[in-house]
Amino acid sequence: MNRITSVEELKALLSPLAIYEDYLHLSQRGRRRSALCPFHKEKTPSFFVDTESGLFYCFGCHKGGDIIKFIEEIEKCSFEEAVSILARKAGVEFSRNRNQKETAEGKQREKLIQILSLSLKHFRESLKNAQENSPVKKYILERKINKQAIEELFLGYSGERGKLISLLLKEGFRKDECATAGILQEGKNGEYYEYFRERLIFPIFDLQNRAVGFGGRTLIGEEPKYLNTRETPVFRKRELLYGLNLSKDEIRKENRVILVEGYMDFLSLYTRGIKNCVASLGTSLTSTQASLLKRYTNNVVLVYDFDEAGKSAMERALPILLGQDLDVSIALVPEGKDPDEAIKLIGADEYKKRIENSMTFLEFIFYKYSKSNFISLEDKLKFLDDVAQNIAEINDPIKRDAYLNELSDRTGVKKGLITEKIEKMGKIHSVDRNLLNEKEFEIPEGEQLLIKALLSANNDYIKKILSIPEEVIQYLKTSSIITKLLNGIEITDELESRILAFVNNSCHDINGIKNLEGVIYRLKKDFLEKKRRELTAKLKEAKARGDNDLADIILRELSSTVANEAKNIENIRLELKESKDD
Ligand SMILES: [Zn+2]
Repeated sequence: MNRITSVEELKALLSPLAIYEDYLHLSQRGRRRSALCPFHKEKTPSFFVDTESGLFYCFGCHKGGDIIKFIEEIEKCSFEEAVSILARKAGVEFSRNRNQKETAEGKQREKLIQILSLSLKHFRESLKNAQENSPVKKYILERKINKQAIEELFLGYSGERGKLISLLLKEGFRKDECATAGILQEGKNGEYYEYFRERLIFPIFDLQNRAVGFGGRTLIGEEPKYLNTRETPVFRKRELLYGLNLSKDEIRKENRVILVEGYMDFLSLYTRGIKNCVASLGTSLTSTQASLLKRYTNNVVLVYDFDEAGKSAMERALPILLGQDLDVSIALVPEGKDPDEAIKLIGADEYKKRIENSMTFLEFIFYKYSKSNFISLEDKLKFLDDVAQNIAEINDPIKRDAYLNELSDRTGVKKGLITEKIEKMGKIHSVDRNLLNEKEFEIPEGEQLLIKALLSANNDYIKKILSIPEEVIQYLKTSSIITKLLNGIEITDELESRILAFVNNSCHDINGIKNLEGVIYRLKKDFLEKKRRELTAKLKEAKARGDNDLADIILRELSSTVANEAKNIENIRLELKESKDD
């Protein structure tokens, strides 16, 4: 394998667009490519990649930088880790420059990972060497866990106490370091003991396939049944999904993910050929986990336990998934108490059919109330409460409207009443709430004039507006409306229509548009000023971190921004001169 030593060398070997494409769906927009930003919630793309420089920038959350910065952000890793991920993608080996400054934090994480990987090796060997009549072997037999599953999921066994401690100490790790990694636990008297005891071990990997924690199933009836590694600097349960390292490519390929709750559910489905599957680590689903899934697909099928606890876990997961604008459906498989049992009973083919026939979330809620025939008002109200909570989470106005229509059709309750109910629950989205009250939504005068100019259908005006750079448009408060007007897309969104009507009826003198160039220059000026301020702050930050590569990139961006600002000011000066000469 080729060995390289500098970041510049590595960058020269990569095609930035191909790397971005690994994570995002980019569409062409002139010299730039755009996508929905993976770092913040949005409906219209404000994430841009410059095809020539390979730099990215989001006009919504203002994250930006080069491809290494992008990997740092999206994989939630350090600079060093991002470089090694990219080196792997480029098929080269990156040997770190010895005098490269390493952060204390990076070093600690590295050490914890080493401890965890050594422990994993130990757990796996313990399982291989376990006696045939040992509890772990009996359990494996009883649950029909085959050899392939043990190999593919790197299962292990924490058996005889004391062995792992002495192994780690022999390798030069301190007891307190092993405790930080979650492998040892400090007792009351300052003694350290092994955290996992007589458990079948499910290692939990991050997206770079490094073991960051473990889940352990008791073999001797101890509580809790499943014990997870405590939160550590490398094990953040709320941000991890079990099995995603194995299934992410398949999820992207199938454009769908099957979400289960437990390790055993994942194991059963995955090893029976349902490979686009992840488990939520036995805890309630978090919005970070939901947004992690969204990187790979928009379609989630929930398959939880078929009992009351499972159903209420699904109900808790629903608004979290809907809140990320994921399309959620639910597969109910009543043949077993959990997915592990069910797939064993009905077989993988039948199980796949159940997934194909999963219900939409609205159908699921109807199903829950299937015994009620909505005759009494009380029934209807309870049902609406339930469903409104979920619909309120959906950001996409078109999708939300479709659900409202269906709900109204099926219950016979007027759509207006349901909307009112959602609004009363106070859960309507903050953005929308701002938009609901036009006075609160203060549209800058310049933007109002742009919209008026677009509505006037005057070709000269439209030509001038078309010359505004995309990034300036994206920065505007009303960018979505202006983009739609420019592209001749009909405005169907209720709130946007209201803004449009508001601007159209506002009392701005149409003569204000005569100096449309002046308006555009001022908008550009605001944009460039804001960008300069942001870049300056970022530059400071990068320098403080000692990230010279990033500082260089920002500096380049900054100088071109300043140059544009100067040009813009010059244009305004000329414009003023011309109008005086008139
Ligand atoms: Zn963003």
